[in-house]
Amino acid sequence: MLAVFLGVALVSAGALGWLGWRLLQQDLALESQRRRDALEQAADRAAATMQLALAELQGSLASPAAARTSLPAGVSRVSTGPGLAFVQPAGSIPYVPFPRAERAEPLEAFAEGERAEFARSDLNAAAREYANAAAAADPIARAGGLARLARVQRKRRDADAALRAYAQLASLDADIGGIPAALVAYAGRGSLFEETGRTDELRQEGAALGRDLRQGRWRLTQSEYDFYSDQASAWAGAKRVEDRHALARAEALDWLWQNRAAVGAGVRRAMALSAGPVLILGQASPDRMDVIVAGPDYIAALCARSLSADLGCALSDPEGRALAGDLRGDRDVAVRAASPNGLPWTLHVSPPAAATAAPSPRRRLLILSFIVVGLVLAAGWYFILRAMSRELRVSRLQSEFVAAVSHEFRSPLTSMSHIAEMLATDRLSTEELRKKSYDVLVRDTDRLQRLVEDLLDFGRFDAGVAALRLETLDVAAVVRATVDDFREHVANQGYGVELTGADEAMMVRVDGEAIARAIWNLLDNAVKYSRECRTVWVEIGHERGRVSIQVRDRGLGIPVHEQAEIFDRFVRGAESTARRIRGTGIGLAMVRQIVRAHGGDVRVASEPGKGSTFTAMLPALPS
Ligand code: ADP
Repeated sequence: MLAVFLGVALVSAGALGWLGWRLLQQDLALESQRRRDALEQAADRAAATMQLALAELQGSLASPAAARTSLPAGVSRVSTGPGLAFVQPAGSIPYVPFPRAERAEPLEAFAEGERAEFARSDLNAAAREYANAAAAADPIARAGGLARLARVQRKRRDADAALRAYAQLASLDADIGGIPAALVAYAGRGSLFEETGRTDELRQEGAALGRDLRQGRWRLTQSEYDFYSDQASAWAGAKRVEDRHALARAEALDWLWQNRAAVGAGVRRAMALSAGPVLILGQASPDRMDVIVAGPDYIAALCARSLSADLGCALSDPEGRALAGDLRGDRDVAVRAASPNGLPWTLHVSPPAAATAAPSPRRRLLILSFIVVGLVLAAGWYFILRAMSRELRVSRLQSEFVAAVSHEFRSPLTSMSHIAEMLATDRLSTEELRKKSYDVLVRDTDRLQRLVEDLLDFGRFDAGVAALRLETLDVAAVVRATVDDFREHVANQGYGVELTGADEAMMVRVDGEAIARAIWNLLDNAVKYSRECRTVWVEIGHERGRVSIQVRDRGLGIPVHEQAEIFDRFVRGAESTARRIRGTGIGLAMVRQIVRAHGGDVRVASEPGKGSTFTAMLPALPS
C-alpha cells in the first residue's frame, strides 16, 4: 500500500512539476512575444515620429518664413550663393563656406602715401595721405586707408591714434585682401597690445574676438576659423571654448560644400562626426547651397522624443556605421531601415535592460500558485502518511492486545480446569490440598472477573463524562477504602501500601467507583512493576486548587521517550513486554479516561531503575 501511495504521490508530483514547467515556458514565450510586439510597435511609432519631424524640417526649407519661426533647437538653415548669404538662426553656425566676392583694393589711392612711407620715410606725410584715402566713399578704399593709417601711427609710436584708426576699421563692412575689415582691426589691436605689454586689454581683445568668431560674424573657411580661434584663445590666456554642436553643424556644411559636385542636387544625409551625428537636408549645386543642418543635440532630442525613456535608441548610416547610441548586436533589437524617402538612417530600438530580470505579475502569480499547490500536496501527503503510520501502529497494538488478552485469559483458565479436573476425579487426597486448590480457584476466578470488568469498563469510560454517576463525595475516604482493599489483595504477596494525607475530608464531585478503579489500576501497576521494593506510597493532598492523588513506587521506572505514549490504549512499555510481565496495555488508558472525564488530568514523573510517580489531579469543589 505504501508503495502504491508513494507511486501515486511521485506520479502526481511529477505531473504537477511537468505541468508547471510547461506553463512557465509558455508564459515566458508569451511574454517575450508580447515584449517583442510592444518593441516593434514602439519602433514603428518612433520611425513615424522621426519621419514627421524630418518632413517638418524639409517644409521649413521650402519656406524661409517658416524657418524663421519654427526651427527647432539644434537646427540651422543655410542658403548661400552669389549675392545671397543667409544663416538662420543668425549666429548659429560659427563658420560657413560662403563664396566670398573678393574685390581687389584700389592700390593707386594709396600710392602717394606708400611713397611717403617707404621711399621718403616721411611718416607724417604718409599719415596725411592715408587719412585722405580713408575718407573715400568706397568702403574698400576706406578700409585700406584706415589699415595703412593705423600702421603708420604705430610706427610713429602714437598708439592712441592707431587704436582710433582700428576702431573705425572695425565698424566697416568690407574686406581687405579677402579678410573682413573687423578681423584685420582685431589682429592689429591684438598685436599692438602684445607689443606694448597691455595684457589686460589683450585678454579682453582675445575674449571679444572669440565671442565674435563663435557667433559666426564673418564668412570664414574652417582653417581661417581655427587660426583666429587659436589666436583669440592665446590672447585671452584661456582654452578655446566651443559649442561642439554648432561646430559639428559647420563641419557638416563644410563637407557638403567640398563635395557638392559629387553629392548631387538633393541631399538627405546623416553623417557621424566626432561631436555626434549630423543630418543635412536640402539642395546643393556648384555655386549655391540651400540646406537644413540638424546637429547632434537635435538628433538626440528627436530620439528621446520618439521613444519612451526606458527604450534604447541607436542610429546607423545606411552602410551600417554607428551614428548615435550603442549598436549592440542584440537579437532583441527592433530595426527600421533607412530608405530614400523615409528615414535617412537606420533606427535600432532596444528593449529596457531590466525587462528580462523582473518576472511579470502573471508569472509571479503562476509560480506562487504552484508553490501553494505544491505545499498543499506535500501537506496532504504528510497527513496521509501520518494517518497510515498511525493506522499501522494501532493495528499492530491491537493484535498485540488480542495476544495479551488471550494470554491473560488462558493462564487462569488452564489452572482452573486443571484443579477442577483433579477435584472431580478425587485426586486431591488431603483436606489441606483441597483447601489450597479452592484458594487458587478463588484467586483465579477473581483475576478473570477483574479482567472481564476491566475490558467492559474500558469500553464504558470511552463515552467520557456521560458514563459517570457523579455525586459529592469525600475523595479521601474513597482513596482510603481502595487502598484498604488493595492491601488485602496484595498482602499475601508481601506488598504493603503507605497512605498519607487521607485524614482530612476532601469533598469532590466524582463517580466514586470510577475513581476507585483508577486508583486501583495505578496501585496494581506500582506493584506489578516493582519487584524488589515491596512498598508503594499513596499521598493525597491539594495542589493549586485541585486535589492530587499520588501513587509512587521504587520499581522499574519508565524511559522518558515512553512516558507520553503509555497513556495511549494498548501501549505497553518495551521493558514490560521483554520481562513478560502480565498486562494488556489498557490500564493507564482507562486511568486517563476516568480522570479527564472528571475534568482533571494525570501525569507521570519517572526515571528508569529508580521508580515512578503517577499523579491524578481532580478539580476540587469550591469550599
Ligand atoms: P499494562 O500494565 O497492562 O501493560 P498499562 O496501561 O497499565 O498497561 O501500562 C502501560 C505501560 O506503562 C506498561 O506496560 C508499563 O510499561 C508502563 N507502566 C505503567 N505503570 C508503571 C509503573 N508503575 N512502573 C513502571 N512502568 C509502568
